Amino acid sequence: MNIKGLSRTPLAKSIYDAAWGQFLSILRNKAENAGLKVIVVSANGTSQECSNCGHKVKKPLSQRMHNCPVCHTSLCRDLNAAINIRKRGTHALYKQAQSMLSKTSR
Ligand SMILES: [Zn+2]
Repeated sequence: MNIKGLSRTPLAKSIYDAAWGQFLSILRNKAENAGLKVIVVSANGTSQECSNCGHKVKKPLSQRMHNCPVCHTSLCRDLNAAINIRKRGTHALYKQAQSMLSKTSR
């Protein structure tokens, strides 16, 4: 299938959504077989947010380092984003566990 050609048509969003859905399905299956769980989080703002103190540090894509003026954390912007994504996933997992516990205690 010519995915690149289709990506310029109005069908593009549906194709991307279907591909994303299929990717998540495969990932969930693989994770389950390995005894792991997939948590989907929004990556919005993860490279701008300080992974140490939460301060928003605006930076252009060309700026590869995260330097926080508040807590002076300095690390690679991708590592900063990865830490934020892990935190969001951990938070979502904690919320899920809390919700399951409250349902079983009723
Ligand atoms: Zn900070």
